[in-house]
Amino acid sequence: MHFKRLLNRFETEFVNVSFSTNYMKKIGVFTSGGDAPGMNACVRAVVRGAIYNGLEVVGIQYGYEGMIEGRFVDLQARSVSNIIQRGGTILRTARSEQFRTPEGRARAAGNLKDADIDGLVAIGGDGTFQGATRLAEEHNVAIIGVPGTIDNDLFGTDYTIGYDTAVNTAVEAIDKIRDTAASHDRLFYVEVMGRDSGFIALDVGITSGSEHIAVPETQTNISELEEALAGSKRHKSSAIIIVAEGEESGGALSLAERIKDAAGYDYRICVLGHIQRGGTPTARDRLLASRLGVAAVDALLEGQSGVMVGEIHGKISFTPLKETWTKRKSIDKDLWRLASILST
Ligand code: ATP
Repeated sequence: MHFKRLLNRFETEFVNVSFSTNYMKKIGVFTSGGDAPGMNACVRAVVRGAIYNGLEVVGIQYGYEGMIEGRFVDLQARSVSNIIQRGGTILRTARSEQFRTPEGRARAAGNLKDADIDGLVAIGGDGTFQGATRLAEEHNVAIIGVPGTIDNDLFGTDYTIGYDTAVNTAVEAIDKIRDTAASHDRLFYVEVMGRDSGFIALDVGITSGSEHIAVPETQTNISELEEALAGSKRHKSSAIIIVAEGEESGGALSLAERIKDAAGYDYRICVLGHIQRGGTPTARDRLLASRLGVAAVDALLEGQSGVMVGEIHGKISFTPLKETWTKRKSIDKDLWRLASILST
């Protein structure tokens, strides 16, 4: 074990420093867009991965907004103690209108330069990576993206940090809804997050044993759904329909209004909303966050930039930032089939 540590140190000091971009001395890390459980675990991994490699680390608060305002804090290994299990983000997050302008990005780049920050790790979703792409292109900032969003809608990674926790939170809530649905012989329309994608809805639908799932990727055929519900009504006293918020009718409320007489069920609507964003990250999310955080630091040290680090089939992968938001990750057709087989 001791030998292994010495070997690691040797690799770090002699391999990384001698043969890669040895100008990297200080890096910045920030979280941006919607918060996601596991962001803290990722910040911790970035900080400790950087310190292990002899780098200084600065935390940028409130995402791009804080970058523009110069809200930088020095981070040490102990600054990230006791956060691996916490939801949200200790660095805070924000949506920044100023950063969408060339002037805003120039101010942010100027602040990075003044603080001697040589590279950035951006933890966020597709919007964050659009901003990161611009910052890298316009101001030559070395930047690595880490997928942190509950939506799982980023091309270039099988899973995003926060997704597993969000799915588990929703399933736990629906297990409770199922108890009341069964007791009152009711139909429940349950709305889950997913403005543009049905990843959460599909996984939640299968694992909560729901009867029907409506997602943004496909048009909901109302007469087919009415027919299916009428079929359910013949042999099931209660039912659950999972509706992604971006479903084409406009979510659970609008969909419920379109279904004639709810096939005879007494029905209720439940919007799970922001509870899906919070809470203790699952072990799977903590592991993914830890792995990707350290891989992002390694990538900066290797001289990579303008890429997102992800995990595909269990292996670390790198995808150009631009592809993460220009290419679309599609829903697994086999899962869709599974949902329809199991809901009969
Ligand atoms: P989530 O998927 O959880 O919503 P996100 O990263 O997609 O996370 P956004 O609010 O879309 O969240 O983006 C975060 C921030 O990135 C925005 O507030 C904005 O400052 C910046 N951003 C988004 N799109 C662009 C763009 N086209 N150009 C420059 N900056 C952008």
